[in-house]
Amino acid sequence: MTEKFDQWKEYLESVYGANCFFTKDWLRREHERGNTRQVSRIDRDVDVRERAVSHANKLSEDSRAAATSSLEDIRADLGDCKRCKLCGTRKTIVFGEGNPRARLMFIGEGPGEQEDLQGRPFVGRAGQLLDKIIEAMGLKREDAYIANVVKCRPPANRRPEPEEVAACEPVLFRQIDAIAPEVIVALGATALECLLKSDAKITKARGTFIDYRGRKLLPTYHPAYLLRNPPAKKDVWEDMRKVMAVLGLGKE
Ligand code: SF4
Repeated sequence: MTEKFDQWKEYLESVYGANCFFTKDWLRREHERGNTRQVSRIDRDVDVRERAVSHANKLSEDSRAAATSSLEDIRADLGDCKRCKLCGTRKTIVFGEGNPRARLMFIGEGPGEQEDLQGRPFVGRAGQLLDKIIEAMGLKREDAYIANVVKCRPPANRRPEPEEVAACEPVLFRQIDAIAPEVIVALGATALECLLKSDAKITKARGTFIDYRGRKLLPTYHPAYLLRNPPAKKDVWEDMRKVMAVLGLGKE
């Protein structure tokens, strides 16, 4: 009980100053008298403060961890990942690549055949189209950062299943926090669903910026869709012009 009285006194002094009239003796007396209302209020305030301090400490630990978590740390933590069944069919983990301080990040669905073989994202036909889009924006591929929702190729390029996305998405979220891009472009429905946890249709959501973890997220079509539907290229270009405007690209 002495510890409790010390705790209460220390709390009251921090609120009212060292010369406050709530002495330890006063607290003990009130407690013995059964002045439960006053004493339990102090006890509750102490509890609230301690929880607030512990929460604040936890937040600052988390933000320190996020600030010091580099892409190398995240890749090392991923290791030879076996967190979902895609590990059984992949050849390579395709972590992502590009500028670790990129202002612009592209997020696709998952590696395809070429990506799986080469260990690099967006290197097949859809990747070549993405390169052209990036160049048309006045950037080089290595200026941006490119990653996928899942890091291992789903068999026959099927869409990743919800449990595969759930297993892999923490890696993506850490990548986003480490890179801290100003703009994220979600390429296609899987990226949009993973990032926003919504079943918003890409056809409706594309082209409109959404606030996402303090950044601007713009959904647009996946380059693989553009290969099947070339007329949609003009929509993507319209979207990329909005990204360019935010990043101040293409100005004389
Ligand atoms: S897809 Fe992601 S979670 Fe699944 S095995 Fe590959 S790296 Fe691990």
